[in-house]
Amino acid sequence: MRIGIIGCGIAGQAAAIALARDGHDVTVFERFAEAKPVGAGLLIQPSGQLAMERLGILDQVKQWGAPVKRLCGRTTGGRTIMDLRYAKFDKQAQGLGLHRTVLFQALQEGLAASGAKLVLGFDVAKIKDVNAPRLIARDGRAEGPFDLAVNCAGTHDTLRKALNVRMDDPIYPWGCLWTILPDPTGAFQEELRQVCESTQIMIGILPVGRVPGATFDGNHVALFWSLLHKQYGAQRNMGIDALRSRILHYWPEAKPIIERLHDINQFTLATYRDVRMKTWRDGRVIVIGDAAHGTSPQLGQGANLALIDAITLASALRRHRDAESALMAYEKMRRPHLRYYQWASRRITPMFQSNGRMQGWLRDIFFGPMAKTPGIARIMRNTLAGVRKSPFGVWKMPD
Ligand SMILES: Cc1cc2nc3c(=O)[nH]c(=O)nc-3n(C[C@H](O)[C@H](O)[C@H](O)COP(=O)(O)OP(=O)(O)OC[C@H]3O[C@@H](n4cnc5c(N)ncnc54)[C@H](O)[C@@H]3O)c2cc1C
Repeated sequence: MRIGIIGCGIAGQAAAIALARDGHDVTVFERFAEAKPVGAGLLIQPSGQLAMERLGILDQVKQWGAPVKRLCGRTTGGRTIMDLRYAKFDKQAQGLGLHRTVLFQALQEGLAASGAKLVLGFDVAKIKDVNAPRLIARDGRAEGPFDLAVNCAGTHDTLRKALNVRMDDPIYPWGCLWTILPDPTGAFQEELRQVCESTQIMIGILPVGRVPGATFDGNHVALFWSLLHKQYGAQRNMGIDALRSRILHYWPEAKPIIERLHDINQFTLATYRDVRMKTWRDGRVIVIGDAAHGTSPQLGQGANLALIDAITLASALRRHRDAESALMAYEKMRRPHLRYYQWASRRITPMFQSNGRMQGWLRDIFFGPMAKTPGIARIMRNTLAGVRKSPFGVWKMPD
């Protein structure tokens, strides 16, 4: 098939590799003049690692990434909110903390080797005729018709609204500031840690391993600071000293990391949406990745789900001769897994980022004991590992 992919992010590149390897004629269209990673450090779950293995990039990214064996969260008062160990899910299992550049470079090399073409500076403004899709750029250029168009334009995608699909994509009022910092003492390795106070304060530190091109050659961490994005301007005006003092006030042990903060511009604001689409297809157009099912990053699943979408789409196209049947099969294969994580994310996000103090209070009381109750702890661990498709069902990667 002649396939046009919109967006050279995680979903777009993974789909291009998987589809081009199967012999399709694939072109990726990216709006930026230079393809580059966007966003914070990533925690790749065992499910996402399986997808990377299929794409042939797992060994490469592992050389740079950092193993994450445990996820632990506590209140500023020292009460445990969660303590989940991957080894209890499976002895060999662990998360993989990565700087985005590492994943991006591995995907770029895979893309180049797969034979897929990449067109930069092509900002798709419109998909014309969904049954023989043509991609129209903002500057008037047109490409197509394609046998299939794959929309991988990310959570803030503007194209999905024009499809004949019932959808909604409200932006969360809460976002986060993030930065990447060296971990010179190694004190923050092997665990994703979070410190919370009610639902208004949340600080996270995720090991992300080595960073290509960084002056510090050792391991780094991603630091997250939750905030209402309408307060972004005020937070910036307060300056770096005020933010540093606030973080240290809630988390004094983070000093070796926080000492490396010297400029508010080290931080980037990330915003996220809750993307809901009744169906992900319209004619010969399919939406995958965050464009189809963006969530808040609270469960650390978005990149994993995007990689799995790509593998599943290629699998569906191998099994079905015509595009329509393949897209129906794709949707059937992905629906339970994706719906479960969208549901779980909607439930959990307000317990960590919202104005609802009651939700924080319930979290502080129940989460710790739940994580120690055998049946519930297993569901929580599988959910974290990315392999649940319902509270009682386990997801499996397609052939
Ligand atoms: C703060 C934060 C932390 C996160 N942490 C994690 C984590 O630990 N683990 C995890 O699994 N996930 C995490 N995520 C989620 C993860 O980043 C996303 O799920 C993932 O990037 C989705 O990939 P994507 O390819 O769908 O979209 P994106 O990576 O956003 O890529 C979209 C691409 O499409 C391009 N594009 C957009 N519009 C157009 C257009 N009209 N024409 C052409 N090109 C276009 C963009 O320029 C971009 O290159 C996090 C997200 C945030 C915000």
